[in-house]
This record gives sequence, C-alpha cells and structure tokens, in this order.
Amino acid sequence: MKMKMRLFLSFAMWTTLTLAARADDAVGSSISPWQPGMLDIHQISTGRGNAGLYIFPDGTTLLVDAGELPTKTAKHTPDRPDSSLSGGQWLVRYIRHALAHDPEPALDYVLLTHFHDDHMGGPSDKSPASSSGTYKLTGVTQVGESLKIGKLLDRGWPDYDYPKPLEDAATQNYRQFVKWQIEHNALKVERFTPGRNDQIVLCRDAKKYPQFEFRNVGANGEIWTGEETSTQQHFPDLAATPRNLWPHENMCSTSFRLRYGKFDYFNGGDIPGVHPAGRPAWHDVETPVAKVVGAVEAAILDHHGYVDTQNEFFVGTLRPRVWTLSVWDRYHPTPGVWQRLQSAQIYPGPRDVFATDLHPENAEEIAGIDRQLASHAGHIVLRVAPGGDSFRVVIVDDRSESHRVTKVFGPYACH
Ligand SMILES: [Zn+2]
Repeated sequence: MKMKMRLFLSFAMWTTLTLAARADDAVGSSISPWQPGMLDIHQISTGRGNAGLYIFPDGTTLLVDAGELPTKTAKHTPDRPDSSLSGGQWLVRYIRHALAHDPEPALDYVLLTHFHDDHMGGPSDKSPASSSGTYKLTGVTQVGESLKIGKLLDRGWPDYDYPKPLEDAATQNYRQFVKWQIEHNALKVERFTPGRNDQIVLCRDAKKYPQFEFRNVGANGEIWTGEETSTQQHFPDLAATPRNLWPHENMCSTSFRLRYGKFDYFNGGDIPGVHPAGRPAWHDVETPVAKVVGAVEAAILDHHGYVDTQNEFFVGTLRPRVWTLSVWDRYHPTPGVWQRLQSAQIYPGPRDVFATDLHPENAEEIAGIDRQLASHAGHIVLRVAPGGDSFRVVIVDDRSESHRVTKVFGPYACH
C-alpha cells in the first residue's frame, strides 16, 4: 500500500474510533442509555450524601449507599436538583431513568457501607411515614419503599452489635425497614463478609462475562489477605482495648474491589487512613486495605476526602487515573488531601479528579481547586467499554432532571 493511502486510512480509522468513542455521549445531549456489555458507575449528586448506582455488564444492578442528611446548614452544599423533593425521592427518580432499558426497574443488590445518615438516610420530624407506618422514609428506606430490592447487604446483620449495639435513631429506623421488608417483600439480607467474591455476582447472564468480579475486601476490621477468601483481623480484641479507643463507625465501613477485564475500581466507604496524634496505628484502615487492593483505574475518595483520609501509602498504592469525590460540605476535600492527590512524588503521571459539587468556601480555601478539578459539579458517570479495556467519564447536569451531558472525558486505557 502506498504511504499516502496508508496514512489516509489510519487517519480515517483514528477519526472513526474517536467519533465512535464519543458519539454516544455528546455534550448538550441526553446521556445515552446503558447497553449490554457496558459497566456503568453513577455517582449521583444530591448534596445530601453518597449514592452510587452500578449497572453491571449483564444488567445486574447495585446501589451502594443512599444518603440523606436530615438537616442542612450553610457549611453544606445545596440540595440537587433542588429541595422540592427529598434526597431519597430524587434518587428513585434518577435510578428509574438510568434503568429505563428495563421494563421493571429493580435493584438486585443494595449495599450500605456503614450506618451514618449521609450513607443510609436519617429520619427527621419532616420525614414521611412508610405505607406500613412502621418506619420513616429517608435515604435507603425511601428507595426500598419505591423499588424492589433483591438482596440487601450491610456490616451489621443480624445482630447490629459491633463494636457495641447500634441504637441511634437512623439505625433503629433502618432496622424497622429491614424487618418489614423481610416479612412482606421477601427481602434477602446478608452480612457483608470480607474475602468473599460470591455475595454480589452477575445474576442475569454471568456466563457471558467471566472477566467480571466483585471482591469484598474489608468490614469491621476484618480484611481480605489477597488469597482465596481468607481474611485477618486488623482491630485488636475489644476486651483488651480501652473503650475510648474502640473502632468508630467509619473505621468499620465496608470496602470492595470491582474488576471487569483490565478495569479495576475501589470503594472504601468512609474508612480513615490518617490517625490523629495519640491514636493507635490500627486506627489507620486504608493502609492494610490498600496493600491487598493494589493499583486501580478509578476510585472514590474515602470519607469524601475529609482530613483523616487518603494517606500517602493509600494514594500511591491505588494510583488511579480517575478519582471521584462525593461532596456534601465545605471540607470535601481538605487541603492536605488535595495536596496528596496532586502529588507527582506520591505517584507519577496524570490523574483527573471529579467532584459532584464544590462548596464556594472551599474554592476560596484551596486556591485554584475549581480550575484543577476536571469537573466540580454534576453526576459523575464512569462508563466502562464492553470487555473493560477502556472507560470514559461522563458528567451529567444535576441542577435539573434534563440528564444533559455537560462534559465527556477519555477514553482512558485500562492496564
Ligand atoms: Zn460519609
């Protein structure tokens, strides 16, 4: 073949590939529907806590957290799209739209990383009662009232007593919900068990996607060793530990690694990795978790990028190309965390950080962060191509229900 012809052909192929990669999600258009083979991870922006909708390659669905803070102040970011509906109601509407390809949209799995209201919802005087009257609708209980849930996983089932009985109002409300759903909707509930890779599986067409795996990494201090399903306990025996040093709720968060071909993704709930002076070293949960997770393509920041997270070892070991950040207050992220994320000494090469929102006061505190973030407003959708060789990041307008694409990044190659 003549050189010119070859050049022309490779240019034509390059253009076609580039166009094909972006054709489905053009800025200004509505986000394109999920299609079989794709892995979608939607970090939904509500301004009221975390919620991540996962659509696996065979259409299996997972919701990780459904936060809804019961009260907001000036330090918090605004409600998205607005305050006319509750956080849970907006979530349900978002999920129904994202699952419009399914004649009966449902959640095969719901996972709660831990029992805080920005991850599960918290009842207030304004929260409406459920149809049964036995619990209030907020966050995950609102989602479960409106959408069928196949299996619910959390860190506490069935006793909810580690490290001590969980008796706060949000957990009590959630447990009433769980009880009612088991009795009336045949809800299955399981304790999230570290080390296992068979608690969350493809349940619609698993055989077609053998390169998919959902690995439970940690919860309640129990952490996968990296070998088969074995684990070790990172926290000391409670009986030998002063009560004021007992693991707190964030430290008990679940963590997992999701793998699809070459694409690896990490979610660690609110686990900390930077312990205040005088605290024992085992209060750092990020380090033992990072050791077993290794390098990933994308990760959500632990604990919304708060001051006690993203230690050097964790950042340098995961070294993702893409970080996502679920924001609901002015401290997400804090300056030290932002510095570590940016550091080429901790790991070399480019990286893009996406936040669901940025509080104006934080934009002042960390000069330039609004320009340095790849995006600082909107739902963040990671779209992994069939097979897992590459992924894109699609930002979707969160100020209305337009589902309009505002930015597209990538494709990023997976390694
Ligand atoms: Zn949180």
